[in-house]
Order: sequence, then structure tokens, then C-alpha cells
Amino acid sequence: MGFDLTPTGAQHDLARRTHEFSESVIRPAAADYDARQEFPWPVLEEAATRGFYSPLFYRDLIGDPTGLSLPMFMEELFWGCAGIGLAIVMPALALSAIGQAASPEQMLQWAPECFGTPGDLKLAALAISEPEGGSDVRNLRTRAKRDGTGPDADWIIDGHKMWIGNGGIANVHVVNAVVDEELGHRGQALFIVPGGTPGLEMVRKLDKLGCRASHTAELKFNAVRVPAENLLGGQEKLEYKLARAREAVEGGRRSGSATLGTFEQTRPMVAAQALGIARAALEYATEYANRREAFGAPIIDNQGVSFPLADLATAIDAARLLTWRASWMAASGIPMERGEGSMSKLAASEVAVRTTERAIQTMGGWGYIKDHPVEKWYRDAKLYTIFEGTSEIQRIVISNALGAADGRPPLHVDLEPTGGPLNRMFGRGTPARTQVSNTLLGMRDRVPQPVMQLAMKVLKPPKK
Ligand SMILES: Cc1cc2nc3c(=O)[nH]c(=O)nc-3n(C[C@H](O)[C@H](O)[C@H](O)COP(=O)(O)OP(=O)(O)OC[C@H]3O[C@@H](n4cnc5c(N)ncnc54)[C@H](O)[C@@H]3O)c2cc1C
Repeated sequence: MGFDLTPTGAQHDLARRTHEFSESVIRPAAADYDARQEFPWPVLEEAATRGFYSPLFYRDLIGDPTGLSLPMFMEELFWGCAGIGLAIVMPALALSAIGQAASPEQMLQWAPECFGTPGDLKLAALAISEPEGGSDVRNLRTRAKRDGTGPDADWIIDGHKMWIGNGGIANVHVVNAVVDEELGHRGQALFIVPGGTPGLEMVRKLDKLGCRASHTAELKFNAVRVPAENLLGGQEKLEYKLARAREAVEGGRRSGSATLGTFEQTRPMVAAQALGIARAALEYATEYANRREAFGAPIIDNQGVSFPLADLATAIDAARLLTWRASWMAASGIPMERGEGSMSKLAASEVAVRTTERAIQTMGGWGYIKDHPVEKWYRDAKLYTIFEGTSEIQRIVISNALGAADGRPPLHVDLEPTGGPLNRMFGRGTPARTQVSNTLLGMRDRVPQPVMQLAMKVLKPPKK
């Protein structure tokens, strides 16, 4: 599957339906949920009724071989409100982690529990970060120990998690914990902790700057007991993974973890969310600048107002292309060896902050007060340079990849070519093709006109 920007009919329809939902349901409710910092249950119900809140919907989008359905959906949803958007898609982040680690039976068991059904909605959380270790996942201190020796022995989890979306109110918590201290971050595993399990304590709901419609909490795990089958992937897979990790430690090699793999997959998804906020702010500021008059003319007539907006429109499109490319790579199974997922998240989150700040500036005093949504978008956008890896962490990933890929050509030259040997011999720009064109041109006086016309038809660029 090649990288193609043309949407399919289904993608076009998905973007249109999502935009309509954002415009008619999310936007009108956004300011109120932001002010009250309340979880938007009625909006989730409406999302579920419209088919935007179900495991099959997200598996379908993740499975799209073009990779574009998921970022298109995210951008339109978060164009409405990032806080409400996060409340809607949080289970999809947990589902993505389950999908990478779980056995097919576990997936079947837990995926429906992450979403529920309209009228009986459920929530899911992905609990990785800890008070002492957000960026540094090697520093995680939550521990899981077996209570006994047999393969059916329960696991006991002790630890402390911080900033967990849907934490404490979720029906399913996907929790990572260290199971082998000597192996450090390589010795971690993912567990399912159902909501209401004794020992799972919501210490507090966090009071946030932005994205306030989403629920974020501090959690404690006090001797939380879960059965053996709640270890994602199962005991055999864990033992195999730990054995490989031991070999890697002994051989001094670097290796990833299930947690890091999850982030790599989800970064373009998060980038697309930031693009939704950025686009909303750019549209709003442009519309305002066209309408607002100062010194007898619309303020957009001043290049001091219009040029920054032009730069942002360019940067948003560049970030979208990075995001769609990374998403296409994820869907095509192309390894992100140059940090392409991190590039998309870095570019999109930073442009979202710049655009929302510029939107306030463009609107002057009106931008600074809550009569307009741009101050909220500014607060919402800031989260995107922090979670799913801070901007600094994205730069570390990209610069490490730069070093590792030193001397290699860019991705488009490095990828396996399509088109087969005939294309390699006679495709556009090949010496054979140039030679044929030159020969035909040289014979133009001797070759009959119809034959010449036919030959040039084959060689000339196709008309649109
Ligand atoms: C609203 C919200 C929702 C969240 N949701 C979730 C969730 O659902 N699940 C979850 O598990 N986590 C979640 N997080 C946690 C989030 O992923 C972390 O906050 C983030 O990874 C940063 O970790 P930290 O806060 O510990 O900062 P730190 O890691 O302490 O970093 C502090 C600063 O130091 C910088 N820094 C750290 N190391 C380096 C380095 N080597 N080089 C240069 N700079 C460095 C960072 O970039 C940052 O600027 C959420 C956070 C927020 C705010």
C-alpha cells in the first residue's frame, strides 16, 4: 500500500460525520464542562449512539491499511474540544496497549469491558506514569509479585500512579509494573486491574489547567490482588520476554518494552489530536481578523496580523503530513527508525501551542477572556507538549534515531520500491525512456504524423 492523500469514500464520510458531531454536540457543551471540570457523560452517550465509542470502531480504524482513518477522525473530534475528545478516546489508548500485549482470548474478554454499550457505558485507563517517573519509564516503582509459585498463583500489585486518565473511575485499568527488579525497565509487565478491586485507591481527582472535561487522577495500589489470567500475554510469554531481556542485559544490548512500543504506536494519534486544536484556533483567529476593523480596515489587511497566520497555516499542514506519514508507516508495519512518530507528535503539539497563543494575540483583549474559546484552546494545547512524551523526550528519540541512521538515505529512498522490474527499466526518469524520447524527436521529420502522435501520447505526462 503506497502513501496516498486521497481519502476513500468511507474516510471522507467518517471525517464529515465526526465534524458534524463535534460542531453540533461537542462545541456547544465544551465551555460548561471546562468550567465545571465535570466528566461529559451525556456527550459520551451520544458518541456511543453514533458509533464513535466501541472497541470494534477503533480496531477498524487501527486496521485501516492507509493509516489515515484514525488521524482524520482524531483531528475532527478534537477540533470540537480536546477535554471531551480525551474523555471519548481514552479507552482507545488502553485498548491499544491491550492489543499489543494481550492474547486473543484476553482481547476478546477485556475490549468490550473498556467501552460498554450505549446506555451502559464503561471506561478504561492506561496507568503508566508515576510521581517519580513520567518521562523516565525505567524509573517506575510499582511492583507486581506472585503470591505463590504455581502458574495459577495470583499477582499482588503495590505502587503509586500519577496523572492517570480515567484513573479510579475506569472499569478496566491497564497497569504496568516491574516483575523482575534486576532487569529494570525490561522487567515490566502489563496487568488488568478491574475498577473496584480492593486496594485500588483513587487518592484524588487532579485539578488541571486544560482538557478539564477529561478525568485525571492520582492512584495508589495497596496490595491489589489480581488473578494470574490478568497478566496480559500470559505467563509463558512473560517468561520468554524476561529470558530475552536477560540475554540482552548480559550482552549489553538495548531493547524496548511493551510500554515504549505502545507510545510509539500512539504518538501519531496524539499528534492528530493536537492538530484538531491548532486548526480550530487558526480558523477562529482568521475569521475574527477578517471581521474586526481597526484604523478603518479589517485587521487581516495588516501583514503583522496575516503573516503569522500564514506561517501557522504552513506549519499545521507540514505537521499533518508528518502525522499522516507516521500513521501510514504504523499501519504498514514500517519501523519508525528515524523517529517519525516522535517527529509528528513534536511538530503537531508545538504548532498547537503556537497557534492558540497567536489566536489570543490576534483577538487582543477578546482573546484573553472566556467570551471566546481561544483562551481555553491555549490551555488545552499545552498538555500536548507534556503527555505521551514531552517535547524534550521526542527530541531525544529523534536525535538518537539520527545517530543510528547516520549515513543512510532518507526514508523515501530507503523504502522497498514498488512497480517491479519493468518500472525500474522504463518508469519515468529512467535513461531508457529519455533515450526513446530523444530518438523519436530526432526522427520527427521521417516518421508519419499519426505514429509520432501515438508515441508522444505514451511519453507525455498524463492530463488530469
Ligand atoms: C493531563 C495529563 C494527563 C496524563 N495522562 C496520562 C495517562 O493517562 N497515563 C499515564 O500513564 N500518564 C499520563 N500522563 C503523564 C505524562 O505522560 C507525564 O506527565 C509526562 O510523561 C512527563 O513526565 P513527568 O511529568 O514526570 O515529567 P518529568 O519526566 O519529571 O520531566 C520534567 C521536565 O524535564 C524534562 N526532561 C526529563 N528528562 C529529560 C532529559 N533526559 N532531557 C531533557 N529534558 C528532560 C521533561 O521534558 C520535562 O520538561 C498525563 C499527564 C497529564 C498532565
